[in-house]
Amino acid sequence: MVIGSGAIGIEAAEALKKKGYAVTIIELLDWILPALFDEVTAKRIEAAMERYGIHVHTGEKVMRINGDIAVTGVTTDKREIPCDTVVVATGVVPGVALARTAGIATERGIQVDRTMQTSVPDIYACGDCVQTIDACTGEMAMFQLKHNAIEQGEIVARNILGEQVKYLGAYAFARAHFFDTHAVTFGKTMRATDCILGDKELIERENGNDYLRVVLLDGKVVGGQAIGKYADSIGFFIGAMWRKDDMNRLRRKIAQLPSTGAVHAWHQIHMGSLMQSSA
Ligand SMILES: Cc1cc2nc3c(=O)[nH]c(=O)nc-3n(C[C@H](O)[C@H](O)[C@H](O)COP(=O)(O)OP(=O)(O)OC[C@H]3O[C@@H](n4cnc5c(N)ncnc54)[C@H](O)[C@@H]3O)c2cc1C
Repeated sequence: MVIGSGAIGIEAAEALKKKGYAVTIIELLDWILPALFDEVTAKRIEAAMERYGIHVHTGEKVMRINGDIAVTGVTTDKREIPCDTVVVATGVVPGVALARTAGIATERGIQVDRTMQTSVPDIYACGDCVQTIDACTGEMAMFQLKHNAIEQGEIVARNILGEQVKYLGAYAFARAHFFDTHAVTFGKTMRATDCILGDKELIERENGNDYLRVVLLDGKVVGGQAIGKYADSIGFFIGAMWRKDDMNRLRRKIAQLPSTGAVHAWHQIHMGSLMQSSA
């Protein structure tokens, strides 16, 4: 039994299944990997898990783990499920007690400015323990992922050494390789844009089991998710997000291109064609 369907819960479930265990995942929210994928994408990954014999129950809350000496089962708000092993993978919380005791400002994590300096001069913080800004929106964010921690570490080191370097912000990027299903996500999910003002647009492409969705805010890429062969193209969209490419302009330009003799960069043509409504 795996409680929680974040990236770690999914990896644990796959590993247990490969070892021959009967595996069930219980997820409180309505779809798996809820922080990283929108429902449509997550349901496809969920279907792949079910195909490999992992039972997934979403929208269900674990109330109790049963058993006196050893685990005998789990009680949810919907059923009793017998099991002998429970993996709790319900998320991470930064340990900010040390910083707080030292008088450093904390909320969900340690608060830092754009140079990764805390509220106390000459004390810097980086990694999973900090709350920093979202690269797409500039809002407060905590994306506790390795690439963010490494980049923040670099910023801290350079500032301590006397450079004046500002952190551009954290963003989500994760891959979920589940048996034969490869999924990638970056930036904002469509659901995460619910509380953001602006013109939102969702581009979707589907070809058999392959699926792509790109989230645009005011014509700029702020996130995307892909399964299967479309995952190969996701790097182009991450580049577009960082460059803040005007995707409407790109679409117009691609539509005007002659069918042969195009001199545009291949990645722009590829990205533009995926953005065309008829593609
Ligand atoms: C199971 C798992 C799988 C993951 N998979 C991915 C992945 O696929 N991709 C990805 O991008 N990210 C992944 N992550 C997240 C990634 O590991 C973190 O974002 C990254 O390690 C953060 O680096 P960090 O240095 O901030 O913290 P950590 O790597 O956690 O290092 C902090 C270190 O500080 C030590 N420490 C804590 N308190 C004290 C103290 N008081 N005194 C001394 N030492 C202390 C800890 O023991 C630890 O060694 C995963 C995390 C987990 C748990």
